[in-house]
Parts: sequence; C-alpha cells; structure tokens
Amino acid sequence: MPAKKKRKLRVDFRKNRERRARLGDLTRRAIDSLEQPAGPDAFDTHEAVSGKGDLSRRRTVIGTDDGGGVVRDVDPSKCLRGRVLTARGLHALVRGEDGNRYECTVRRVLRTMSREERNAVVAGDVILFQPATEGQGVIERIEPRAGTLSRTSKGREHVIVANVDQVLVVASAGEPALKPNLIDRFLVSAAKGNARAVICVNKSDLSDPAGLEPVAGTYGRIGYEVVFASATQGAGIGRLRALLKNRQTVLAGQSGVGKSSLLNAIEPALELSVSAVSRWTQKGRHTTRAATLIELGSGGWVVDTPGIRQLDLWDVLPEEVEGHFVEFRPFVTLCRFPDCTHTHEAGCGVKQAVRRDLVSRMRYDSYVRMTEGE
Ligand code: GDP
Ligand code: ZN
Repeated sequence: MPAKKKRKLRVDFRKNRERRARLGDLTRRAIDSLEQPAGPDAFDTHEAVSGKGDLSRRRTVIGTDDGGGVVRDVDPSKCLRGRVLTARGLHALVRGEDGNRYECTVRRVLRTMSREERNAVVAGDVILFQPATEGQGVIERIEPRAGTLSRTSKGREHVIVANVDQVLVVASAGEPALKPNLIDRFLVSAAKGNARAVICVNKSDLSDPAGLEPVAGTYGRIGYEVVFASATQGAGIGRLRALLKNRQTVLAGQSGVGKSSLLNAIEPALELSVSAVSRWTQKGRHTTRAATLIELGSGGWVVDTPGIRQLDLWDVLPEEVEGHFVEFRPFVTLCRFPDCTHTHEAGCGVKQAVRRDLVSRMRYDSYVRMTEGE
C-alpha cells in the first residue's frame, strides 16, 4: 500500500523527511491557488509540449490532494455511487454503479463547500448522487481524492483528474528508440504521485528479442512489470488489458511510441466510447475539451486528457529523486558522508554498488541526469 511505503520512507531517510515537508508546502500552495477562480485557461487544449519553455510554464503533475474531496453526511440509502467521467462547470457526466450514465448537477451546499466552483467535481471523482428521472441526478457527496493529476498554468494549479492509481509508461523498441532515462523520469513521477507504474515496451516487432532482455531484467529486478507489446501485431495486448482492468490509468510516454495504437488494440470500441462522451462535453459553452475517462469494456478507465499523453509528468525536485530509486536504499547507508549525493563523493556506497553490478549503470546514469536537473 502506498500509504505504508510513505511511512517507511520517513523512517529510513532523513532527506525524505525534508522532502515530505516540502511536498506539504507545495500541496498547501496548490490548495491556496485553487481558491482563486479558474481563468478561461483552466482547460486549455494547447498543452502539448513542444519545447522547454512550454514545459516550465505549464507543468502537469501527479500528486496527492487529500483535502480535495468534499465529504458530507448524506442518506446513503437514497443514493447511488458513481464515477465522474467528465465534468463541465457544475455539471458532470456520471457512470452509476448500476451501469447507467447520468447527467448530474452538484448540490448547492457542495458548491459552497468546495474551494473553487469551476472545479467542484472533476473527472475521476468518486461520488454519491441521488438519481432522478430521465437519467438525471444530483451529486450529494464527493469522496476524498487520491492520486490527483493537476496542471499548473500561469502559476495556478488546477486539479484535472482525481483518483489516478496507475501510470502505464509506454516506450518503444524502435522509432523512436528506447530511452531508459525517459522511462525512469516517468517512474519517479508516478512514485511521487503514489501511483503504481507498469512499463510497456511497444513496437517489439522492430527489435530482436535479445536486445530487449536487459531492459526487462533491469526493471524486473527492481519490481516493475515490463510488458513487451506490438500494437500492430497484437502482441502483449491481453496482458495490458488485464493490467488496466478495474484501475484508473494514465498513459505516459513520448509522442509516436504507439499509445493511441495500443489503446485501440486494447479497446476496439474505443472510438465509440470517446465520441459519446465528447458529444456531451461539447454541449457546454466551453468548446475546449475537458479531461475524460475512457471506460474499458473489461472494467477500468483510461484517463484521456488533451495534451497529457505527450506531456512529461515531471515535477520532481532534484533532492527528491534519490528516494524514488528504490534499489539504492541498501547501499545508501554505506556512504561515508551522511549527505552523500552519490555523484562526486568519495566512499560512496551507491557508486561502489554500480561498479559491482549490484545497481544498474543505466539506472544510475538516469539518477545522475535527474539530480543535475537537466
Ligand atoms: P502515440 O503518439 O504514442 O499515440 O503513437 P501512435 O499510436 O500514433 O503511433 C505512432 C506510429 O507508430 C504510427 O504510425 C503507428 O502505426 C506506429 N505503431 C504503433 N504501434 C506500433 C507497433 O507495435 N509496431 C510498429 N512497427 N509500429 C507501430
Ligand atoms: Zn553515496
């Protein structure tokens, strides 16, 4: 459980204690900024990152936002549970636990309790609602959020999806070439957001299997599942479908690695499902598309957020990086200096472990690049 892992980190690493304190500050600042009304840019579709400049202005981060949900005492016997597929102001399209879709409004008292009207409910929220006639309903309670995805735009942070519990990190065996460093960055981002991560290496048809074994070995040893897939040849699709089942997953990965192709292979009725939801979204006065959940036939959701697929979910401070390289832990205690950064210092237990092949050189190189904050 992520919560447990967090507690353990606090005990083991002094650095991480500082990190948590910092995270708390960030979260508070995020909450403060949520109190400001959202500008018209809240759901800007032009999020695809083309260059470094854009990256620093508009970051998308996974984080925890425990205070985000609004819990209110209601009579559960009159309510259904549901999940918000997409939200538009104070209206939400909800999938009820009875399998039906409902167009819901948000109960007035929740609007005043929530920090920001525009974000009273977001895609992914788990809610209690009172069903009314003709597929309508009123949202009575929003459960506390975990694993939120938020976007910083012009210094303000907006929650765009709640309850993300998994990141599927997609890379490709070729065209574009596999970049372990990029995989590692996504893994750290997911860990920071307390989301589980699974690695998929797509386009395995473009590479000799022997060339991919070291990748599987490296990540397998540190506890990540690696799925080799080929969207065009149908390889690995069954396994991916099983991994996505009953979870709420964000796909992360460089453009062109085959995320859309994989989604289409996993969910053949994808286009249909997406268009039904976007028809509803477009009824609003905002023509830009909000984050939506794509429902998978086998149960579970994939988060579809304009621009997010290409985005680097990177928002981790250099000093936070070490705590997310789990395989360093046994060796950190062997470092001569308690504040060792495992880069230039003598007597470093981590560097020694790399020399002895106990820690992957590839992973260590990623670590160094990340701490340099490149
Ligand atoms: P995205 O940008 O990550 O969503 O990538 P796309 O799904 O748009 O795929 C980019 C290109 O890679 C397209 O031309 C696909 O046809 C191709 N592609 C996707 N999956 C595979 C695969 O498994 N093998 C090969 N050879 N090409 C693939
Ligand atoms: Zn060290």
